[in-house]
Amino acid sequence: MTDDKFHDECAVVGVIGHEEAAKFCYLGLYAMQHRGQEGAGIVSTDGEQMYAYRDMGLVAEVFDADNLANFAGSAAIGHTRYATFGSKDWQNLQPFLANFGRDSFAISHNGNLVNADQLKESLREKGAIFSSTSDTEVILHLVAREAEEKSFIKRLAAALAQVRGAYSLAVLGHNYLIAVRDPFGVRPLSLGKISGGYVVASETCAFDLIGATFVRDIAPGEILQISKDGKMTSDFSLGNPRSALCVFEYVYFARPDSDIGGKSVYNVRKRLGMELAKEQPAPGAELVIPVPDSGVPAAIGYAQAAGLPMEFGLIRNHYVGRTFIEPRQAIRDFGVKIKLNANRELLMGKRIVVVDDSIVRGTTSKKIVTMLRNAGAREIHFRISCPPTTGPCHYGIDTPSREELIAATHSVDEIKKHIGVDSLGYLTIEGMYRAVGETRSGYCDACFSGEYLLGLPGRNGTKKGPREPDTKQIQPGRGKGKGGSLVLAR
Ligand code: 5GP
Ligand code: SF4
Ligand code: MG
Repeated sequence: MTDDKFHDECAVVGVIGHEEAAKFCYLGLYAMQHRGQEGAGIVSTDGEQMYAYRDMGLVAEVFDADNLANFAGSAAIGHTRYATFGSKDWQNLQPFLANFGRDSFAISHNGNLVNADQLKESLREKGAIFSSTSDTEVILHLVAREAEEKSFIKRLAAALAQVRGAYSLAVLGHNYLIAVRDPFGVRPLSLGKISGGYVVASETCAFDLIGATFVRDIAPGEILQISKDGKMTSDFSLGNPRSALCVFEYVYFARPDSDIGGKSVYNVRKRLGMELAKEQPAPGAELVIPVPDSGVPAAIGYAQAAGLPMEFGLIRNHYVGRTFIEPRQAIRDFGVKIKLNANRELLMGKRIVVVDDSIVRGTTSKKIVTMLRNAGAREIHFRISCPPTTGPCHYGIDTPSREELIAATHSVDEIKKHIGVDSLGYLTIEGMYRAVGETRSGYCDACFSGEYLLGLPGRNGTKKGPREPDTKQIQPGRGKGKGGSLVLAR
């Protein structure tokens, strides 16, 4: 397996100049839990030592009053990580902490490096030993190899000049916080102000929870250093910046109450639904039904533009944990049913438009359609508020491989038959950008268009590649927030 399989869907946060830095990071991560549910971590510094704690589990499971009380200092960074295939290992949890000689730093990364395999191979040839399978660790090694007499920011810039791909970073040193966005600015990263200090976060919903005010987005290719006294230095030494912001953040990934690229995600999502109603009307339909939660804003927009009522025909259970105890006699489609249930009274005999944000594998959609039919829906017109997902994301969203993406191998008509609907309609790429309110230049839409602006992951020429370590760090009490021992580093 090559490293490019380890896509990191994540959130990063950083706070400097506030005595509750670690607690603010914790709250910021809590607000951004949707970006990663596998594990979480925080590293803080009091200027002398770094304090680190990471563990598997949700943010609220990993951290408690006891372990949060151990974080000293007025600067901290944090990270949440998504469960991705083959990488559910403790050692891949971030922030990563690096000690070299007299100094140490910590790093949180959202994105995915496309040349991590090649860089790892050449670093291994020079004697580097990797303790994780994460692409982020490559950055640590590259920084370590840069001449020590250079300032840290110069070492970091020189290291990043060697990597290709998507990266939004929060980097913590003893006396500074650094926020970085790759030259394409694929993943979001915003700067906010909080009493006495600053905060950076993947999404602005994190600012709202901790009472920070939005200042601006970190620009593509920008390296912004913020010192403890609030002094800022901005440097643009990362290649030729040109924006290629992930358009899928608007479609699905970001929280609707966040602003991305200066736009309300909720408003864009609603307009996606409006454009969808114009491009893909459903004559004769009586009701618009959203697939909760992700399909709700687009369904509102669709209903408004189509002049149809919107009703909740699918009710979501919000308390679903990650493991269910199934009865011994297996229940058909148990996985979907535990999350969603059809509202029979409403659906019986109705001709409905079902609006969702995207179809990935098509498996959930098919089960939802069966559920709606069983509840008596007479006609089902499925509408998707983005174009067909025809390719995987190599830049930090955990989409399955091409073979598993139903739209990569099936026509819209075939998908329609597969999921069992009376009609199926997707939004066009043009319609999507009308909703965003921009032209295509400035955005990444590779998973819809196949235009991978940052290139594709290298595969070392062969399938084998360098062997990944088969050792595992054993963590007692995994997932209970009791296992990740506090690590100290000078
Ligand atoms: P499918 O029918 O393809 O099995 O599932 C479609 C559903 O998956 C949609 O409701 C959509 O919101 C959701 N979805 C789309 N992209 C992603 C993703 O990257 N991760 C997860 N967990 N769900 C996604
Ligand atoms: Fe976003 Fe799709 Fe580009 Fe990935 S490929 S960064 S999901 S637009
Ligand atoms: Mg959904």
